[in-house]
Parts: sequence; structure tokens; C-alpha cells
Amino acid sequence: MTHRLLSTSLALLFLVAGMALAAGLPPDRPYVTFDEAKQDAMTPDMAIEKLKAGNRRFVEGNMHNRDLSAQAQRTASGQYPFAVVLSCLDSRSAPEIVFDQGVGDLFVARVAGNVISDDMLGSFEFATQVSGSKLIVVMGHSACGAVMGACDGVELGHLTGLLAKITPAVDATPVAADAQRNAGNAEFVEAVTEANAKLQVAEILRQSPIIKALVDEGHIKVVPAIHNLRTGEVQFL
Ligand SMILES: [Zn+2]
Repeated sequence: MTHRLLSTSLALLFLVAGMALAAGLPPDRPYVTFDEAKQDAMTPDMAIEKLKAGNRRFVEGNMHNRDLSAQAQRTASGQYPFAVVLSCLDSRSAPEIVFDQGVGDLFVARVAGNVISDDMLGSFEFATQVSGSKLIVVMGHSACGAVMGACDGVELGHLTGLLAKITPAVDATPVAADAQRNAGNAEFVEAVTEANAKLQVAEILRQSPIIKALVDEGHIKVVPAIHNLRTGEVQFL
């Protein structure tokens, strides 16, 4: 390499580094994927705190700058996710994003209205009893179309049966005498969303003796949460 070429290369290098700094890009943080020892050392409360910390980073726009390709390679021979999240199908409520987690960190199950089914329960039993995850979060979200559909008694193809699983939460939610019991009432929708997340948690414990036993022995926790689409904040109920 000639002297001139070397100095040109160095100048380019500084220019690129300067542009990255000027663009305010976060520094590349080392980030390690979960392994068996880390998963073992985790408690259900630590798992909740880890998700809360990740959600704070998401809300503040301060997410980890991960090398996802490297994480994918590192986890290819085994996975040890610390938590399970059941969330809605909604495109704006993706658990890995709102909790700022990487490859191999979370088991994620998604269905409109974040309702459980036998297949979901089987998946959760695998994630906890077999794979060692310490927490199950049932995460509803604000302005949920599925919840609004259930509030309005919508019937459409296979959606009818799915929304029927939210109906008990609709029926259990009180409204003031002069207020509407439908999706036009935002407060009612919000209350049903919370009731539905709590109801699905109760149903997991009622329908799965395996998960109930893990909870009773203190190995895992099952908790409801609500993701606010406007603020990005996830509130654990
Ligand atoms: Zn939804």
C-alpha cells in the first residue's frame, strides 16, 4: 500500500466513525445470549425485572444494539429462554421488541386477543417444565381489535369461536348505569382488556396442573400485563 493510499484509507475510516457519532448511534454493547447456568440462576421475580428493564430501554429509545446474526449462531445448538410471553396477534405488540430481548431470550406465543387453548397450554408446559423458563406473561394491549370485537359480539367465520374466549371477561366487567357496554366505550374496552389478561392467567392455572404445581412450588410465576401502544410502556398488573 502506498503512503498516499494509506492516508486516504485512514481519512475514510475517521470520516465513517465521525458520521456514526454524529448520527447518535449507540455504541455496540457486548451482549451474551442465555445459557443453562444463567437460566438456572434466574428467579421468577428476576425475570419480571429483566423484562421491565428491557421495556424501559424500548420506551426510552435506548435499545441494545445486538448482533442478531451472531446470537442466532450462538443459540443454534440450544436455547434457554428465561420467560414465555403470550401476546396478541397485533403487529404493534411484539414481545421481543417491546421488552428489548434478543435471539433465544423469550418463548413467544401469539394469537388475537391473547387467549389460551390446549395447544398454548402444551407449549407453556414445554417452555416451563421441560425447557426451564421462569415466567409466563399474558400480555394484552390497548385498543385491541379482538377485545373490541368481543365487546360488540362480532361473528365472523372462525373468529366467532376465538372471540367467545374473551366473552367471559366482557360479561364480568361492570359499567356505570348510563354507560355503553360496547367498543364505543373506551373505558369499558380498557377494563375488559385487563379482565381478559387476568382471566387467561387464571385459566392457565386452572387447566394445567403441571403449571399450577410449578407455581405452587415457587419455580415459576404466571402474571398478566398490559402493553400501552401509545407510550410503549408495559404495565404488570
Ligand atoms: Zn389485540
